[in-house]
Amino acid sequence: MSKKLSKTFIKNQKTLIEDEQNKLRLQIETLKKDDPFSDPDHASDNAAVDTDVREQVGHETIEAEIKDLQKRLVQLKEAQVRIQKNRYGVCEKCNKDIPVMRLELVPEARFCIECERKMKK
Ligand SMILES: [Zn+2]
Repeated sequence: MSKKLSKTFIKNQKTLIEDEQNKLRLQIETLKKDDPFSDPDHASDNAAVDTDVREQVGHETIEAEIKDLQKRLVQLKEAQVRIQKNRYGVCEKCNKDIPVMRLELVPEARFCIECERKMKK
């Protein structure tokens, strides 16, 4: 754990992560309900072809969105593990402290800004 991080800060980050997870789970649930493929009548209805196409596109968009949200959930879960292991707030690449301001913005951040930038190149 980065020595600069106070117990209060970690406690706040834990709450932040949990809130975010709840929000994401809710979003996933809502998206699943919007998915035309989750409609129990879907298989039995003899809709026109254009409706089928629209449903297909809707389904794929929703699936992609759900995938993104689930990815974020995994990253938040990993952040929780790092808190447990006292590795939170330390860059996984260069072992430097990740600035507090960055952690407040991105609680699941694994790298410092510099390393993140280098990786994107
Ligand atoms: Zn770094």
